[in-house]
Amino acid sequence: MSRVDRLDLHVFVLIDAFGWEIAQRLGFLSDALPHRAPLRTVLGYSSGAIPTMLTGKSPAEHGHWNLFYYDPEGSPFRWLRRLHFLPDSVLGHRVVRKAVKEVGRRALGLGPLFDCAVSPRVLPWLNWVEKRNIYQPHGIRGVASIFDRLAVAGVPHRAYSYHDGTDAEILSRARHDIEAGRATLFFVYLSEIDAFLHHHVEDDAPLKEKFSIYETGLRELLGTALRRDPRAGLTLFSDHGMTPVRRHYDLARDIETLGLRMPDDYLAVYDSTMARFWFFSERARALVVEQLASLTCGRVLTDEEQAALGIRFGDRRYGDLVFLLEPGWLVSSSNFNAPGWQPTGMHGYHPDDPSSDAIFLSNQAPPRPMRTIADAYACMAHAAGLLPDIAEAPRR
Ligand SMILES: [Zn+2]
Repeated sequence: MSRVDRLDLHVFVLIDAFGWEIAQRLGFLSDALPHRAPLRTVLGYSSGAIPTMLTGKSPAEHGHWNLFYYDPEGSPFRWLRRLHFLPDSVLGHRVVRKAVKEVGRRALGLGPLFDCAVSPRVLPWLNWVEKRNIYQPHGIRGVASIFDRLAVAGVPHRAYSYHDGTDAEILSRARHDIEAGRATLFFVYLSEIDAFLHHHVEDDAPLKEKFSIYETGLRELLGTALRRDPRAGLTLFSDHGMTPVRRHYDLARDIETLGLRMPDDYLAVYDSTMARFWFFSERARALVVEQLASLTCGRVLTDEEQAALGIRFGDRRYGDLVFLLEPGWLVSSSNFNAPGWQPTGMHGYHPDDPSSDAIFLSNQAPPRPMRTIADAYACMAHAAGLLPDIAEAPRR
């Protein structure tokens, strides 16, 4: 029997935005999954956090962080430069909405309008990072992911994401495949909780109702797995939590009053909880820095902080300067945000924010102490027999 044939069945489920605070408040599957720990997230959104879970590396190492990055030559929106004479109102409401929606549909499933507001003046200088399906081999641009490792090692596995259907459809397919198939490692990404929590992070009744549906689905998944292999594992992860929104700030309006011009002086991208700037003149930098320093809703991240957070990129493609809002604050850019988008919960704050903690919940003790979302990689690699020390150890 080969090493791969001796692997125990393990099902990993990633539930987007299901934070530690809510999981504990609900006692989510606490009987079935008694091994539990809060995981520190990485600064940013799912576009940076999930690649960290799949590689065990920081965004600066694997190259994926926020959705948009500076790439004037490679921008798929270069054609928009020809329309620079159009007023923002026209560009913003028709062309950009359509272009960004297209990116969202192809790259994100849910659409970045939920997390990102980009001015039509900026888009022609930007590219977006998640062009490939990150749940397949070669999905992460900079380094090997768990899916590359599984493919090379010949570990029979299945992965499911919004590319394959709704959460309910995915759960049902995974259950069927566990029953029928020979794969030993399953990776199930459920993305719909994120959108739900953006609107119900503090509404206990709908929260309980929603999560009881997931409890039922996951119990069935565990039951199915245990029937096939009594030693089967079920481990739930998330990429980040959800923080109640308390206050809004129109950062773009402040910056626009400085009288600087995009793209000549600077470019700005406003994400929900941060603003990123690229400067093309010292005057622009000085004015923006001065303006930001006067605000109490957030602060500029120093180079040292960015390095410690694993988001310092040598080529500055994700920004010359990052302004991060304090937990509970939300960037409201009335010019760019989709009308009616008023979330009561948000993520993308400093990882020290307790509401931002992600989850580790399992029916089995982890192979090592679980502290950050990057440990998800080690956990999956261990289950797949890919960690050298553990792979050579005799079977229990
Ligand atoms: Zn979200």
